[in-house]
Amino acid sequence: MTSIQGTPISPGIAIGKVLIKNTVKHDILFIQGKDKEQEKDRFHTARTKAIEEVTKIYNEMIQTKGENEAQIFDAHITMLEDIELIEGVEVAIDEQSCNAEWALDCVANQFIAIFEAMEDAYMKERAMDIKDITSRIQRLLAGTEAFNILDLSEPSIIIADDLTPSDTAQMNPELVIGIINEIGGPTSHAAIIARMLGIPLVVAPHMTELTSNGQMMVFDGETGAIYTDPTEECIKTYKEKQIKLVNKRAALEQLKGTKSITSDGIKVELAGNIGVPKDVKMVLENDGEGIGLFRTEFLYMSRSDFPDEEEQFLAYKEVLEKMDGRPVVIRTLDIGGDKELDYLEIPKEMNPFLGCRAIRLCLKNPLLWKVQVRALLRASAYGELRIMIPMIADMEELIEAKSVIEETKEELRQQRIPFNEHVEVGMMMETPAAAIMADLFAEEVDFFSIGTNDLIQYTIAVDRMNTDVAHLYSSYQPAVIRLIKKIVDSAHAAGIWAGMCGEAAADKKLIPLWIGMGIDELSMSPRSILETREQVQNLSQKQCAQVVDEVVLLKTKKMVEERLNKELTEVL
Ligand code: PEP
Ligand code: MG
Repeated sequence: MTSIQGTPISPGIAIGKVLIKNTVKHDILFIQGKDKEQEKDRFHTARTKAIEEVTKIYNEMIQTKGENEAQIFDAHITMLEDIELIEGVEVAIDEQSCNAEWALDCVANQFIAIFEAMEDAYMKERAMDIKDITSRIQRLLAGTEAFNILDLSEPSIIIADDLTPSDTAQMNPELVIGIINEIGGPTSHAAIIARMLGIPLVVAPHMTELTSNGQMMVFDGETGAIYTDPTEECIKTYKEKQIKLVNKRAALEQLKGTKSITSDGIKVELAGNIGVPKDVKMVLENDGEGIGLFRTEFLYMSRSDFPDEEEQFLAYKEVLEKMDGRPVVIRTLDIGGDKELDYLEIPKEMNPFLGCRAIRLCLKNPLLWKVQVRALLRASAYGELRIMIPMIADMEELIEAKSVIEETKEELRQQRIPFNEHVEVGMMMETPAAAIMADLFAEEVDFFSIGTNDLIQYTIAVDRMNTDVAHLYSSYQPAVIRLIKKIVDSAHAAGIWAGMCGEAAADKKLIPLWIGMGIDELSMSPRSILETREQVQNLSQKQCAQVVDEVVLLKTKKMVEERLNKELTEVL
């Protein structure tokens, strides 16, 4: 047995066999003097296998997502059968007596350059498809099996070098019993989704090299302890721990139907965060009092084109109807940073989290945003919708975004399409600029929702994905706590409500602070709702307010954490 210490990210115990997902790309080498016919055969075998793989995906997509979504794979099959590509590779092998990999790379690069030079945006995008089919053939030439998260046939622990948010969102928690990712912090979107699905996750570098497919492993998502080839004794200990966790969850069920009110009678709304409409089930199962954050970008992922107005309208309407009158905060598209869309080419940026992300990207592509705004307004007729704008840092951005909403409302009025005239419009508080100007922003919106995941990274200037600076990325940073207090106070002074939807909303140690500040709503992974309700019921708001008075005067994150630790042990 070998033990490795990783960084704990999503709680839970994983016991099972390893499956490695490695996306590292290898350089294509030029090897001369190869047998030409043999290389041509290798190319044709790999190409035929690629056609089989893509046809399989195409058929699955037709079944699960429909004709539109599947179309892209149909186009890939056509490209794989393209005579110019096939002859080009054969000629290159003949002329250079080289390996098939090199010949394919040369021909594909010529095609890519032609497409990329085209004026037409649609044709430009075809370069991406060529890259896609070529890397598929290259992988098959290298003899590596494809990894498709949807293809898992037995429960496995996934070890990945870089798991994307969309990979994680597609996972089936019954088959993915745990994840070890080589990079990312506690608020990377892959981590947030894993927590939502209840999949244990630990970050540990070099794990794809340190483990092998089929190897037995045990790990603890709460402590970060990893054991490869565990002893019987180790497996037994962790199985017992697993049973204790299941029993603890069962005990929390008793709290369903009770209220989230402090011992001195202060109500706080406990809501759930979701990524796609089917997640509403988890919010309802955990007795969520609303949805405080619907991250709509997940509707745009794992597909080949933007969802149109009707598709979005139906998704939002479904969520509102299922929540049956309970409030639902839907955030407009927050793409960029660690969330990418395969079909939207965002130019490579030096600092993607500081670049064309979220509302910036939407205001730059007004047609794209307008489709979403129309869909949201139309859905507002079917429940208690609240529209939320992400990543506002500049007052002019907010004013521009609000004017698009007003303009869209006017269009709907003209077209006699029903919507809620009084739909609340709020903003995420996730940049220091917004927090510092909170009193003025409060005059412009109906609510604030504090996005601590980003507020920490932008305030402390620390990338939320970078493990090398993870020691600075902390919700206990005094500067962040002061900003949060300012946001809540400014909201209340202006008569609007303030919620929180970042991961800190469910942090046991911090909850007394949020209650003491008088936060109106806390929105979290649905699995945390009942545990938070139990804690809220045991807290006194008056006492928590005194803790806030003390904590805002502390100098270091260590002092803050120690003070909050003391509070937690005294109260519970
Ligand atoms: C946040 O930044 O806290 C937040 C909730 O948004 P996201 O994690 O999606 O960036
Ligand atoms: Mg954010």
